[in-house]
Amino acid sequence: MQLSNWGQYPKVNTALCCFRSDEQVRGFLDSNPSHIARGLGRCYGDSSLNAQSVLSSICYDHLVDFDPSTGILVCEAGISLAIILRLFVPRGWFLPVTPGTKMVTVGGAVASDVHGKNHHVSGTFCRHVCWIDLLTSNGNIVKCSKTDNPELFHATCGGQGLTGIILRVAFRLIPITTAYIRQETVKTRNLEEIMTCFEESSDWHYSVAWIDCLQKGDGLGRSIMMRGEHAGPEDLDIIKSRAPLIASDKFSFSVPINMPRFTLTTWTVKAFNAMYYGRHPDGTAKQIVDMNSFFYPLDAILEWNRIYGKRGFLQYQCVLPKTAAFEGLTTILKRIAASGMGSFLAVLKLFGSQDDNGGILSFPMEGYTLALDFPVKKNAFSLLNELDAVVLDYGGRLYLAKDARMTPSTFERGYAASVDRFRRIKASWDPDNRFVSLQSQRLQIGG
Ligand SMILES: Cc1cc2nc3c(=O)[nH]c(=O)nc-3n(C[C@H](O)[C@H](O)[C@H](O)COP(=O)(O)OP(=O)(O)OC[C@H]3O[C@@H](n4cnc5c(N)ncnc54)[C@H](O)[C@@H]3O)c2cc1C
Repeated sequence: MQLSNWGQYPKVNTALCCFRSDEQVRGFLDSNPSHIARGLGRCYGDSSLNAQSVLSSICYDHLVDFDPSTGILVCEAGISLAIILRLFVPRGWFLPVTPGTKMVTVGGAVASDVHGKNHHVSGTFCRHVCWIDLLTSNGNIVKCSKTDNPELFHATCGGQGLTGIILRVAFRLIPITTAYIRQETVKTRNLEEIMTCFEESSDWHYSVAWIDCLQKGDGLGRSIMMRGEHAGPEDLDIIKSRAPLIASDKFSFSVPINMPRFTLTTWTVKAFNAMYYGRHPDGTAKQIVDMNSFFYPLDAILEWNRIYGKRGFLQYQCVLPKTAAFEGLTTILKRIAASGMGSFLAVLKLFGSQDDNGGILSFPMEGYTLALDFPVKKNAFSLLNELDAVVLDYGGRLYLAKDARMTPSTFERGYAASVDRFRRIKASWDPDNRFVSLQSQRLQIGG
């Protein structure tokens, strides 16, 4: 079958097998020399694609155990964050870290070591993982954690499925008293103002900004910051306090078909940006919002990836070290504005310091991360090659979970401090390089 991930680029013809048990996935493993695991395909590019065999975890999705005295949940890797939230929010528990969509599996969250709007406080998802059961290339199931097989654990967290198939994960949920967020939005006029706003928001549990990447001159980098805290019962009005732990899953609609290419042009993006920026009041505004609106606004538009048309789109997410971020981001935003290729979605976030003891190939580093979308077309590739050079010159790197096009040398330079260690551990647990993705082949991650 033809398979692609969220960016609908690239597409590959492959065999997709869904496993339901440990025995079944072992059987699939024996039937082919090369595989990659796949969750809900929410990585944008090719990290869960393999031209021979893709092993899907989505039918392997049971809860195994939950201890309310510690918040530790044990589950099979194919369960989605959406199901966990549906079951646990009404009982007063939330995810320790969540990406901008809940349509990802726990296995995918571990393999990309995902970050959320609280990275500066809570780090990445794997900081909260107690242990992982991993099916390795010889068919054995190996338990790994920060203390048991620690090298394998650190290579698997953020390792993009290249160490084996994650079967079960134990991780810690956090207690909440309502399903609402006390949100403040802050309108800022340029890059300097939004960066100051991030610095001043370091005490907030969650912070993220939408950035208008088509502005030039004085308005370069104008943004809307959204920051939030979990609301307590005292923050809710009478109606919300009747069911404080029930998050309204608002009306959602689906983009029915791949849209024609002329739908998203510089002009439509400019018009959207002007409307979005203009709709927010000047200064700071306060609101109580439900957690779906705060964490997952895009999930309300099902299959929104179709707005980019059937050729798909490229997501570009880079991180720049804090000291170089103002200069680096200014250069990047100027190049994008000059190219006229505005990104419909553009998100800026300040990462906190990353654990030395975290995932070896995990993406975050202390600094600013910018995420952008561009429709697949020739000049998008040349613009992104230019941006790669800027990111590397300023000491940054790109996120593997979003990538479909970086070159091996961009990868090597961005992950120079960690890639040799990763290769050594992978070679010892997967000597025949059986866990392979189109991305790992393109970037020669497995050596
Ligand atoms: C709208 C949107 C917003 C997003 N926001 C964020 C964000 O804020 N922060 C962030 O960090 N990411 C974000 N992402 C990216 C997403 O969280 C990651 O790509 C995540 O890994 C996707 O999980 P998945 O279950 O869909 O896995 P897939 O996309 O299917 O696979 C992703 C990787 O995980 C591996 N994998 C999946 N399951 C297993 C398994 N059982 N065993 C071993 N390896 C496995 C795959 O091999 C692949 O390398 C976003 C994506 C979208 C579409």
